[in-house]
Amino acid sequence: MSDRMRFLLDETRIPKAWYNINADMPVPPQPVLHPGTLAPVTPDFLSVLFPMSIIMQEVSTERWIEIPKPVRDIYRLWRPTPMHRAIRLEKMLDTPAHIYYKYEGASPVGSHKPNTAVAQAFYNKEAGTKAMTTETGAGQWGAALAMACNFFGIDLQVFMVNVSYHQKPYRRVVMENYGAKVFSSPSTYTQYGRSMLAQEPDSPGSLGIAISEAVEAAAVSNGAKKYGIGSVLGHVLLHQTVIGLEALDQMEMAGEYPDIVIGCAGGGSNFGGFALPFIHRNLTGGASARVIAVEPASCPSLTKGKYTFDFGDTAAMAPVVKMYTLGHTFIPPGIHAGGLRYHGMAPSISALVNHGDIEARAVKQIETFNAAVMFSRAEGIIPAPESAHAIRTAIDEALRCKAEGKKEVIAFNLSGHGHFDMGAYDAFHQGQLQDYEYPVHLVEEAMKHLPQVNVPKD
Ligand SMILES: *Cc1c(COP(=O)(O)O)cnc(C)c1O
Repeated sequence: MSDRMRFLLDETRIPKAWYNINADMPVPPQPVLHPGTLAPVTPDFLSVLFPMSIIMQEVSTERWIEIPKPVRDIYRLWRPTPMHRAIRLEKMLDTPAHIYYKYEGASPVGSHKPNTAVAQAFYNKEAGTKAMTTETGAGQWGAALAMACNFFGIDLQVFMVNVSYHQKPYRRVVMENYGAKVFSSPSTYTQYGRSMLAQEPDSPGSLGIAISEAVEAAAVSNGAKKYGIGSVLGHVLLHQTVIGLEALDQMEMAGEYPDIVIGCAGGGSNFGGFALPFIHRNLTGGASARVIAVEPASCPSLTKGKYTFDFGDTAAMAPVVKMYTLGHTFIPPGIHAGGLRYHGMAPSISALVNHGDIEARAVKQIETFNAAVMFSRAEGIIPAPESAHAIRTAIDEALRCKAEGKKEVIAFNLSGHGHFDMGAYDAFHQGQLQDYEYPVHLVEEAMKHLPQVNVPKD
């Protein structure tokens, strides 16, 4: 064990292959269903939205999938990202626990999102795609895909959730800098957006609505545009595993192995990217780390949702998958962690939670910002409000260690920095943030609209 504060790998240590959890899932995969017929989807249906290489990754059961050289070459702009030991935070908490964090805010756009954006743009370029569409919540994903599409010479249209469009105007400018066209969602550009605006002219929007708009814009383009997705699907989690694979090497450099692995979970991609390589060790390598996914109490799909089949988007145009869901028509309160406002959760993460391989926890907005500010003061980095959910839980576990007099090793993913979230921090310092109660009635209402799926019992 060393008392170093940073563990850095040189660029030769960027992983050469992504880790595919499909190879080791302890439960059989559930079918992905067509949103119209509710029968299993065919590659034909998916090929309207994605290039075939990405569809093949989605269903692959190969354990290791090679990272193409052009993707690794772009990863070299910021990867490997550093792993820090939060010695100053440990001292502030006066805990015997050791706390480590992997810092994905080191990417050019400040989050983990480019790990998959670059891969998706690469596979689209290879397939001859000239233009793409996508949604974005807080603007992190839109910025990442805008950067990646620019590198590969692909045009991009981004549907940005209305509340974030107004809360985080500079994110739009980031996307425009890379050459993307940005719409506030719901927008007048799509039929679905127009129908939402007719019902509620100042709709705050949601990721589910923005996904519907981006899917519609690609689907009606007669093959001219493909769709890129920032989270939830298997290929996205696959591309994100570079985070955890590097972290495994860095924990080895530190001479320790985590007892607890933590990540925040919106759609599950940074959490999965960080945690799945550790879960691989739990499932096949004799390790036994506790793995905790942390979500907002106001959008608690894992802790209060139902494990069932539901649409991936609000308009019921995206495929139906089995996941923890609050109902696809549920529109979460406008918390500042915009990236965590999604009604569902990645199917692989959902299955592992249901099987008991992952614990889930929900935390409230104000205690999350308290943790974020404490972390900034100890470590210097101002975290994204999304990432602060992981920090809250790491601090809570470190305080439990203190109370129990235990020296456990805690590792969490710091998914991004909060430099575009100063409006949220300002509201916190002015005492204007609120804790939203879990919206029981909205969820009960949304649960009435789940698709009626008949699949054989497993
Ligand atoms: C988008 C985002 C998230 C949430 O998305 P996941 O797919 O659950 O990772 C978390 N943190 C940051 C910084 C993000 O940009």
